[in-house]
Amino acid sequence: MSPAIEIQGLGKRYGDTVALDGVDLTVPEGSVYGFLGPNGAGKTTALRILTGMARPSTGGARVFGHDVVHATNDVRALIGFLPDVPGYYPWMTAEEFLRFAGKLHGVSGRVLDDRVESLLEMAGLAGVKQRVGGFSRGMKQRLGVAQALINAPKLLMLDEPTSALDPMGRKDVLEMIAALRGKTTVFFSTHILTDVERVCDTVAILDHGRVVRQAAMAELKREGHALKVAVEVEEGAEALEPLLAAEPWAVECERDGQVVRCVVSDMPAARRSIPAVVASKRLGLVRMVDEEPSLEDVFVELVGGRS
Ligand code: ATP
Repeated sequence: MSPAIEIQGLGKRYGDTVALDGVDLTVPEGSVYGFLGPNGAGKTTALRILTGMARPSTGGARVFGHDVVHATNDVRALIGFLPDVPGYYPWMTAEEFLRFAGKLHGVSGRVLDDRVESLLEMAGLAGVKQRVGGFSRGMKQRLGVAQALINAPKLLMLDEPTSALDPMGRKDVLEMIAALRGKTTVFFSTHILTDVERVCDTVAILDHGRVVRQAAMAELKREGHALKVAVEVEEGAEALEPLLAAEPWAVECERDGQVVRCVVSDMPAARRSIPAVVASKRLGLVRMVDEEPSLEDVFVELVGGRS
């Protein structure tokens, strides 16, 4: 079975600017895939090529086995797309807009009626008679996702779907994305780490037109990156910090109130020795917990702190 997206050696130049520099990427069918990268990393360029709106300078890409450059129509029938700056007709209602989008895709009759009804429901816009021109950004973006689903695509691609939204708007759009899990493959670009953490099962990190990491979320957080342990004491953390920092397993420690956080090279060794170190100072141990590195830790390590 062909993957939803397969990108090989994809390159794109605009004059002297290298937007994509040999991108390799595979998006398995059924995944909710986060395409994460700082501004200017090349995310929009990659999505434009995948949707047939731009041509690569080198390499190529396939969507469910169809060449995105030479089989554009086959690809269009399989995808739904929400661009980073979507256009709407402000005088239409949500229902009119979805019907219009459906007709452009050749959907009509009963199928269109049913789709419009279920998508309005999904977008929380059922019964909204207001015209799109008066919608909040969140409502517009939910309508945009619904519009991208009107042709019942196998693959939904979204370019920065949450960037312009407030926390509630982001939550609503992320819930729409999460509800598609298992039904539609979703590939969305973003620079917002928490969005990826909330809904994606797989992630690729793009930087300067190159994929610097591609992995399952769980693996990315676990693999090869610093583990942290947090040790909280009733009091006396200032005395504890240098003792922990001097242990052979401690890479670095920092104190925040009565909590000492250490990056550790050997977690079992740390677990064995921490209670004894605490006891040697006659301090009361409140808790000792492992702290998984956040996606932000991983991202900063790979992309060098720019986001
Ligand atoms: P953002 O989050 O800021 O939209 P992005 O990751 O989507 O960033 P792209 O928009 O793909 O990045 O841009 C990648 C690089 O290519 C940038 O340096 C950008 O300035 C350049 N670029 C993109 N489109 C064009 C174009 N049409 N002409 C010239 N340069 C371009």
